[in-house]
Amino acid sequence: MRIVDLRSDTVTLPSPAMRKAMAEAELGDDVFGEDPTVNRLQERSAERMGTEAALFVPSGTMANLVSVLTHCRRGEEVILGNQAHMFRYEAGSMAAVGSIHPHTIPNQPDGTLALSDIRSAVRPGDVHFPRTRLILLENTHNRCGGAVLSVEYTASVVQLAREKELCIHLDGARIFNAAVSLGVDVKDLMRGIDSVCFCLSKGLAAPVGSVICGSRDFIAEARRNRKVVGGGMRQAGILAAAGLVAMEEMVDRLAEDHANARKLAEGLGNITGLVVEARPATNMVYLRLNMQRFPATELVGRMKDRGILFLTVGENRFRLVTHYGITDADIDYTLTQFFDCMRE
Ligand SMILES: *Cc1c(COP(=O)(O)O)cnc(C)c1O
Repeated sequence: MRIVDLRSDTVTLPSPAMRKAMAEAELGDDVFGEDPTVNRLQERSAERMGTEAALFVPSGTMANLVSVLTHCRRGEEVILGNQAHMFRYEAGSMAAVGSIHPHTIPNQPDGTLALSDIRSAVRPGDVHFPRTRLILLENTHNRCGGAVLSVEYTASVVQLAREKELCIHLDGARIFNAAVSLGVDVKDLMRGIDSVCFCLSKGLAAPVGSVICGSRDFIAEARRNRKVVGGGMRQAGILAAAGLVAMEEMVDRLAEDHANARKLAEGLGNITGLVVEARPATNMVYLRLNMQRFPATELVGRMKDRGILFLTVGENRFRLVTHYGITDADIDYTLTQFFDCMRE
């Protein structure tokens, strides 16, 4: 049976160029700082983001944890959205490992945090309160439909952070999707941001890895915290080699994923009984079922029987993600299968 896997852009497999680069990668022991391929990936990443330094880590979850551990001491507080990946999907890592206090405020539907909400969340200097240390933003915003935070909005949060003497960490798991969608240089989304992490293993299709970028001092301390959580890897250049290809060859093509997502959303929106949440800005389509013939809990199973895979992300809420390996023809096929499923 033909399978179209729209569960996540993490299911992407490495390209032939990545496999070749991995096989031929020059290697060393990265805990000693001696893996030339890892060093090259870190240099390229820092250049690309406009920061002094960068650090390769095994996952986005570890990248966020290591970054927060580097910004905050125990008992200090992070202001973040109640829909943030780090709040919802990272096993409570900042509290579990760092004794760091998450202070959630509502995410707006467009993925932003209202400046007034951030302002009132910052604690006054009083022994009753935890110390506010960090603001966390997410771009693109996963649970808010893959929404993109603009250059202007980011700058306004940076300004507020400076005023309140706070740092900003950007969960940029899909920051290249944001840059491609806006048609800006990724550096423009980074101005004044203290640290960012991005995933190589999502839409960029590398098999493993994320990168943290920040100042030289920040990255030196993050290297220590990576060791604390067991993220120091040895001949990691075999993974970094794929990451280098990902950054060279896979960024511009994200526009195809965005076009496929828009086409999918338009097609699904025309099928009676399906409601698409919003026109996708990037590679995610969020969907609800609005009909009585079968319960929403059956939609994923019924479509799986037709070879179309996607995830339930809430009560009667579904997410479909386009990525490398999903073609225009796959979108047509998916729409046909949905159409038939909704009529059966
Ligand atoms: C996937 C994701 C992460 C975590 O990345 P993993 O590599 O899966 O640990 C962090 N933030 C966002 C927004 C994500 O989508």
